[in-house]
Amino acid sequence: MGQIVLKLPLNKIEEMMQAYQSQLKQAPQGAVFAAKTPNSSITAYRSGKVLFQGKNPEIEAGKWGDIEETGSFSPSNNSKPKQHNFMPNPSLFTQSHIGSDEAGTGDYFGPITVAAAYVEQSQIPLLKELGVKDSKNLTDASITSIARKLLQLELPYSLVILHNPKYNKLQQKGWTQGKMKAMLHNHAINQLIKKIEPVKPDGIIIDQFCEPQVYQRHLQSEKNALQENVYFMTKAESHSIAVAAGSIIARASFVQEMNKLSKKAEMTLPKGASAKVDRAIATMIKKYGRDNLNSFAKVHFANTKKASAYL
Ligand code: MN
Repeated sequence: MGQIVLKLPLNKIEEMMQAYQSQLKQAPQGAVFAAKTPNSSITAYRSGKVLFQGKNPEIEAGKWGDIEETGSFSPSNNSKPKQHNFMPNPSLFTQSHIGSDEAGTGDYFGPITVAAAYVEQSQIPLLKELGVKDSKNLTDASITSIARKLLQLELPYSLVILHNPKYNKLQQKGWTQGKMKAMLHNHAINQLIKKIEPVKPDGIIIDQFCEPQVYQRHLQSEKNALQENVYFMTKAESHSIAVAAGSIIARASFVQEMNKLSKKAEMTLPKGASAKVDRAIATMIKKYGRDNLNSFAKVHFANTKKASAYL
């Protein structure tokens, strides 16, 4: 049993309500809706907080947003970064540091992309001027254009892409999305540390998607270890410009991969995990058959089943 809380905009919550239409149950007072799936029960509140509880809450939560916090929950509490021993000292935000973030985890179609970026202290004002900030507050078009400027600046970064066939293989082997993300972040950071050698960053900040202890356990299970000076923080992209740069590079890469996949499928693959996605899955199955989904999608998402309604 676990629980996960996401903070989502109301339009997303409406989208969710539609997606879980056949699984709705009576909502408690103050809730917009409540639903139950085989993995998790879901309660969405007007504050924008959505609570996922049950056997595998990360499966449902992972479709809708970045997993930000676990543990205690009250529908009205402020979503402050979660406190733990791996919190970065705020002075690190103004020093030379590495930041890493991911994209694509809640999208049915397309890969997971993780990018780590290294920002030197002297570059921080310039990056701010270029509009580097939390990619969630930017359109895909401006993300692509800012990412291009980062490449022109030759900002040191490293990008890893987990394509769908490998994702599905790992998922079938029993890997959770959390474990995949931990391994991808770790890999991206290792690559970047090598790239900038002999320079050593003042610190490394990972946009937190699980408890630091859980992250370390994932690494240990694959005989990997945490690098020196690694810190975790929820909503890190709004504090660290390196994490923000990572989030922009990861998102730009995700958008690019989605364009490639759409071209390959000769149809537009929608982002996210809404009913629009279910209809696109049905179209794809009719065009190419069910086996083909493995190359384009995270097939364990409930969308695969929900698409049957459109077949
Ligand atoms: Mn993130």
